[in-house]
Amino acid sequence: MSDLDELYQEIILEHAKEPSNYGALDPFSGQADGFNPLCGDKVSVTVRLSEDGEKVEAVMFEGKGCAISQASASVLTEAVEGRTKEEVLALFEQFHGIVKGEIPAEELDQLDQLSAFAGLTKYPTRVKCATLAWHALKKAIG
Ligand code: ZN
Repeated sequence: MSDLDELYQEIILEHAKEPSNYGALDPFSGQADGFNPLCGDKVSVTVRLSEDGEKVEAVMFEGKGCAISQASASVLTEAVEGRTKEEVLALFEQFHGIVKGEIPAEELDQLDQLSAFAGLTKYPTRVKCATLAWHALKKAIG
């Protein structure tokens, strides 16, 4: 059970149970869907950009699927709010690094809730669950 405990850390379970920013923005500047056929996870992401189109003012998501996919979407909406598009893409790169186990432990501490997904390195098939919402967001702000 210890591996599972590590995988479904408290942060992940909490976000899956009570996701932040759940719903759809109206009006929105961009929208994209994500589907992970391996697990059956679905997300729909809506994003509102600043007038100059450079900054993410708000993100909301709707979806269903495993705890990891939904928790990741929830954490994402909190992590990217108020950031520039460039910063969001850099954060996505970092998140990729986290789920693949490429970020050293001391750096994980600074990544706040995103670091909860570091436990996924033992479950490579779940990486798609964790990155689903990020891919959708990337499309939505593209
Ligand atoms: Zn999944």
